[in-house]
Order: sequence, then structure tokens, then C-alpha cells
Amino acid sequence: MDAIPFLQGLWETSLRAIFPPKCLVCSSYYVWQPSTGTIGSDSVSKVTAQYFCESCREGLAPISSPFCSKCGLPFAFREGEDHRCSECLLEKKYFRKARAFGVYDGILMEAIHVLKYGKKTSLSEPLGGLAKEAFFQFWDSNSIDLLVSVPLHVKRLRERGFNQAHLLIRKWAKQEGIPLDGLTLSRSRWTEPQTNLRRTERRKNIKGAFSLQHPERIRGKRILLADDVFTTGATVNECARVLTKAGAEFVDVLTLARAV
Ligand SMILES: [Zn+2]
Ligand SMILES: [Zn+2]
Repeated sequence: MDAIPFLQGLWETSLRAIFPPKCLVCSSYYVWQPSTGTIGSDSVSKVTAQYFCESCREGLAPISSPFCSKCGLPFAFREGEDHRCSECLLEKKYFRKARAFGVYDGILMEAIHVLKYGKKTSLSEPLGGLAKEAFFQFWDSNSIDLLVSVPLHVKRLRERGFNQAHLLIRKWAKQEGIPLDGLTLSRSRWTEPQTNLRRTERRKNIKGAFSLQHPERIRGKRILLADDVFTTGATVNECARVLTKAGAEFVDVLTLARAV
């Protein structure tokens, strides 16, 4: 046996025994042994094992087929092929396709709330890792020219101190060499939070809220727009409309979570 990795493993294990990791979502202390490899056999677990306890990790499930081929909505009936949902058959969507890591409920919803409202930005590490998982499930890095995060209004940005959409993609965009633009698209008009609005009200509320500083940066680009949550899709659809109008070749959407 090689002495150095063995000692390193022993050291890590002792450290974990004295200072067990604390789950970023539920705040409980848990046992995690990085060297054993028994936990973390699948990729989702691997991404989150350092940050979430086992029971929180169990609540994280990626969205799988069948889902809407346009907006990514997972179908309640779990058999059959992907196809367009009724809304996507009726309504104009400016994005080409939207995909998400998981459904916006349970632990994933809680984790996003802790990141956004509890301002625990360390969560952007595991949650960003999950966004990256979803990215590679549905795209490859050669198929996208530019990552654009859905912007916050400057008033909201000051209040929160960070843009969660940007935090979720910043690290891996750099690692994968995909240009990331968090400045060209801006939220020029203040809008009331969409949370308590119905679908049609959301669409009206968000219309005309975004503008482009340098439209020439968008022209001809294959764009992936990123956000934390896809609720009714009104926000990303409005962003996609503005980006398409400026000459983007296409706009796809990646979100960490998808409301159903
Ligand atoms: Zn937990
Ligand atoms: Zn759909």
C-alpha cells in the first residue's frame, strides 16, 4: 500500500470524525467518507456529497423522459415518448428548447430558497454542479456559443448582493471554456415579484422588462440562457424574445429547477 495516500485518507477520515460536515440544506451533521466511495456512486450524489446529508441527497432526482420536447415539463403519466405539452402547442415560445435538472419541490426548492433568501452562496457550488449535470445531459459545449444569465434589476441585485442565475453557471462555464455574458442583457424595468401572479399576469408583468446593451454581441450566436427556476416560463420566454430579435441564431434555456 502506498503510504502517502493512505495517510492522507486517514487524516481526512479523522478530520471528518472530529469536524463532521454540516448539511447546507437541513443543517444536520452527517458522516461522509470521501475515500470509501460507497456513497456517491451516481453523479448527482458525487456532486453533492460534500455539501448535503444523505437524506437530503436522496430527495434530488433528475428529470427524465417523458417530458415536453419544447419546455421540458415532465409528464405525470410516466410512459411514452417526449412530445409537446398542450401549452407549447398553443402558445408562441421564443426559445428552442428548455431543460432543467430537477422538479422544483422538496429539497431542491428548499436549497434554492436557502441560496436566494438565506443568502448562503456556498450552495452555488453543489447547485451549480447539478446545473452542470443537466447541461451535459442535454447539450455539449460545442453546441453553445454564449451562456447568458437571466439578469436581476439593479435594485434587486443590490438588495440580494448576487445574481443566483449567474452563480449557478459561473464556475463550470469557465472550466468548460464557454463564454459567459452577464452584462449584455439587462433588466431595465422594475417588475413586481412574479410569485403571486397567474400565468397571463406574469406575461404582462414581464413584457418589455429586458433590454440589450450591445445587441451586436448577440447576433448570430447560439445562446443558452440560464436561470434558477422555470415557473411558467414567462421570464425566460421574454428574454428569449429580446435575444432572438437581436439576431441570436437560437436561444435554449437551462434552469436548475422546473415547476410542475
Ligand atoms: Zn440535509
Ligand atoms: Zn411544453
